[in-house]
Amino acid sequence: MLPVFPFFSPFTKEALDSCREDICKHNAGSLFIVSFVAAVLIGLFSFFPALSEKRISIYAVYLITAIIEAFVAFYAFYIFRHEKCDSLFVNAGFLAFYICLIAFGMFLGIIQRPHEHSTTIFVFFIGAQILFVIDFPRSLILNLVTLVVYSVFSFPIKPFDIWIFDTAGFFISVLAGMIITRYMYYTVIKGIIATRRLEIERNRFREESIKDELTGLSNRRDYLQAANFYISACRHVHQTVCAVMMDVDFFKSYNDHYGHSKGDSVLRSLGKVLQSLIDEEHVFAARVGGEEFIVLWIENRIAEAERVVLKLRQKIIDLQIPHEKSSVAPYVTASLGMYILRGGSSDSIDDFYNNADAALYEAKSRGRNRIMLMDSTDKTMRPVELLPSEKNLGRR
Ligand code: GH3
Ligand code: MG
Ligand code: MG
Repeated sequence: MLPVFPFFSPFTKEALDSCREDICKHNAGSLFIVSFVAAVLIGLFSFFPALSEKRISIYAVYLITAIIEAFVAFYAFYIFRHEKCDSLFVNAGFLAFYICLIAFGMFLGIIQRPHEHSTTIFVFFIGAQILFVIDFPRSLILNLVTLVVYSVFSFPIKPFDIWIFDTAGFFISVLAGMIITRYMYYTVIKGIIATRRLEIERNRFREESIKDELTGLSNRRDYLQAANFYISACRHVHQTVCAVMMDVDFFKSYNDHYGHSKGDSVLRSLGKVLQSLIDEEHVFAARVGGEEFIVLWIENRIAEAERVVLKLRQKIIDLQIPHEKSSVAPYVTASLGMYILRGGSSDSIDDFYNNADAALYEAKSRGRNRIMLMDSTDKTMRPVELLPSEKNLGRR
């Protein structure tokens, strides 16, 4: 339902801000249409009084106004096409348009002979322009100031009955224009805001469809997309891709002992660890199964790749989440399988996943809480460990 006098904006500042660009574009479009039509009409009209009455001054005013209108139209079209919706530019355009009409109307209304009633044209145009000036308080003030100036100037020139007729006509047009403007403002902006909301919803939906709800990381679907990207970087740009498959050790017994919701909060903590790795090392990380995660990144230096995976393992140990039922440590640990896909290799996405999984399986069977690395060149496996000298230094 439209309010009867929607003078005060029914939209919140945030809603208006979120679609300011669209509103500006719409305004520029409206300004173009109105000024183009005005330019053509005034241009055509300029011939008739001049020809019939041979009054060059009137001919000149019509023509100059038409030319200025054409400039305004050209300018509005430029803003509309190039989406240069800086509101200062758009408002300056509206103001230029308004000043042209005022000058035109003032001239006709005050200078012409009283019986010509050409002020009606002026009033008509002022009424028309107000329709398209969306900014409500500014358009109202401009129109009222014009009305006062016009009445004061024309009072000594016109007979009283014509003056009253003009002023009242002008006032009624301002009022009618204002009401119509508010309805237009309301419906147009309501439409723009609704479209914008829909767009935001759609983006949110898209984002959520690739997000894992529990940890906030990417989900399996996003992993598949990312893996395709990394594999093609490997194949075509000869980059070495590292994949780390990670699985929590003895997680079933953790759930059985501490309860499923405690288990969930462990997964959330692991999500945070992986998020910190994303932030610090610019890797991609996803939850691909119940308590299985995968990390992908490009790294051509193997020692550097090992540093990242050791860092991940250490971060998990640092959580120090008690796990009484684990037979490898008194806290929660994970096993990690790392697969190094050398630049130029032609693994399929399944080979890639299965090889990382095989490395993980090997880490599990060798006792868990460790990292196994498989190299794509010879498919051999070796453990990734801190060098004995570095072990004394603790965390790297
Ligand atoms: P292993 O060391 O061999 O990995 O032993 P495990 O018990 O971790 O291995 P398994 O794959 O047998 O168990 C995985 C368990 O993960 C089973 C299930 O209870 C638990 N799990 C899977 N998804 C979720 C989840 O979303 N929340 C919680 N709390 N537990 C989950
Ligand atoms: Mg598992
Ligand atoms: Mg497990």
